[in-house]
Amino acid sequence: MSKTMYKAKIAIVGGGVAGATAALYLSQIGLEVSLFEKKQCLVNGPPFCHLHAGGNLYREISDDQCITLLQESIDFLRFYPQVVDYRPTVIVLPKDDKGKPEDLLPRLELLRDEYDALIKVDPDNKVLGESADYFKLFDRQKMERLRKAKIVAVPSTIDEWMIPVAKNIDFNKVQFPLFIVQEYGLNLFRLAASVTLALEKISNCQVFFNTKVTDINENAQKEGWTVNYLYKGEHREDHFDYLINAAGFRSGKVDDMLGFKRQRLVEFKAAYVSKWNNQNTIWPEVVFYGERGTPQGMAQFTPYPGGYFQLHGMTKNITLFTEGLVKSSKQSAQPELNRDFLEKLENNWTWSETRERSQLAINHLSQFIPSFALGEVGSKPLYGAQQIPGVDDTLRTADVSFEHRYARCEIVKVSSALSAVDAIVKELIKLGYVDQSLYQKRDFTSIKSLKENDIDAYAQSLCRAREYPISLAGRNVTTPQH
Ligand SMILES: Cc1cc2nc3c(=O)[nH]c(=O)nc-3n(C[C@H](O)[C@H](O)[C@H](O)COP(=O)(O)OP(=O)(O)OC[C@H]3O[C@@H](n4cnc5c(N)ncnc54)[C@H](O)[C@@H]3O)c2cc1C
Repeated sequence: MSKTMYKAKIAIVGGGVAGATAALYLSQIGLEVSLFEKKQCLVNGPPFCHLHAGGNLYREISDDQCITLLQESIDFLRFYPQVVDYRPTVIVLPKDDKGKPEDLLPRLELLRDEYDALIKVDPDNKVLGESADYFKLFDRQKMERLRKAKIVAVPSTIDEWMIPVAKNIDFNKVQFPLFIVQEYGLNLFRLAASVTLALEKISNCQVFFNTKVTDINENAQKEGWTVNYLYKGEHREDHFDYLINAAGFRSGKVDDMLGFKRQRLVEFKAAYVSKWNNQNTIWPEVVFYGERGTPQGMAQFTPYPGGYFQLHGMTKNITLFTEGLVKSSKQSAQPELNRDFLEKLENNWTWSETRERSQLAINHLSQFIPSFALGEVGSKPLYGAQQIPGVDDTLRTADVSFEHRYARCEIVKVSSALSAVDAIVKELIKLGYVDQSLYQKRDFTSIKSLKENDIDAYAQSLCRAREYPISLAGRNVTTPQH
């Protein structure tokens, strides 16, 4: 930002990944930022564990969405390198699945070529290994051979990553070949810790914790906003030049405050935490495809250190919920979840529900990994509600939409947070608040320069405060293996 430029005041409602990333980015380029977060810490909304570098978990989405997810994930990984678990993902088609493994090849080849092109544009984009190794196939013969191999304490080759899979999955239940893809994990607690620690160092960003935005009004001259908020029990108001709505599944409430009509969906979902005792092996992520919403819905097995695994099952009695997907109405831009979901979001789960759904998740995975039947409930679930702009519940890439001096940041996948900020910066350039030269100018050092021990300690303290095992703050692979 040039020295003579007016320092615009930006209000951001919501300190999830979208709001906190926007706050970090916009304050780094010199704007005066106030971030309002209702709860006592940042990134406390719906969980995440996949970076989605290529969107290979979603057969149903378009090639374009997959390419966008690949590009955004590479950018996100470069910005937040210490929050990524650098382990690959294995994709398996069950025998009773309607698809065939060869159906996946054209998209994987397209993504490999796209990754190669991104490296040619900027060699620093090479964060997923060699483009030629973006994916690899494993036929039955090869898997039989790996079944006899010795587990390697810390896998470093693609074959070594496949050994635990070869030893534990039921070959009679799956189609060959299997695929291994360079899609990595993303750690929720480390992201919360990193962005909080980075923001603490910036004097022109003020984070208001435990602060609920209660009302917003446009100035009479239509040149800004008056934001009303409840801070330490006291009603306050402040004036801003630009407003960013990053209120997550409550984005519709902000639209309602401003009188904007808007269609959006909100979906409540949950993932389950299990402990597989005596399982000290380092696993890749393993995904068993299936049709969403049916009893055969996709099963996801996400590894953490210490024998913990996060489980998703895209069936109505595991990750998804009857009436868990709701839409906005003519009267309100805010879709309304029923009381049972709100109770879970505001308070907690009952132990019987935790045990019942976690056990169903363990059963779902152990169809394919029989030895995992010994898995136990590891903690309460990771759960939350997320927004999807528009009316298409299969949408996986979304970032931001605009009104005059107002941005609605509605990401569906975490890695879209930086694209959303780029689009906002473009608007701020048009308003004369940011110099053109700062468009897409990333400060890749701000997170990288944080000390690993500080991130570990903060992430673990968040696990404790939110009542999860501290293993969930860790990563099995802390640096790229190439
Ligand atoms: C079970 C599950 C698994 C998922 N897995 C993945 C995954 O693996 N990878 C992935 O990329 N995505 C995943 N997602 C989606 C991902 O979690 C969300 O897209 C993402 O967290 C949304 O971030 P956000 O910043 O937009 O919203 P949020 O994190 O919801 O942040 C919004 C914030 O606004 C605050 N707020 C709201 N209203 C107010 C107000 N009036 N005043 C002050 N503060 C307010 C809230 O307290 C909250 O902190 C998953 C979602 C679920 C439910």
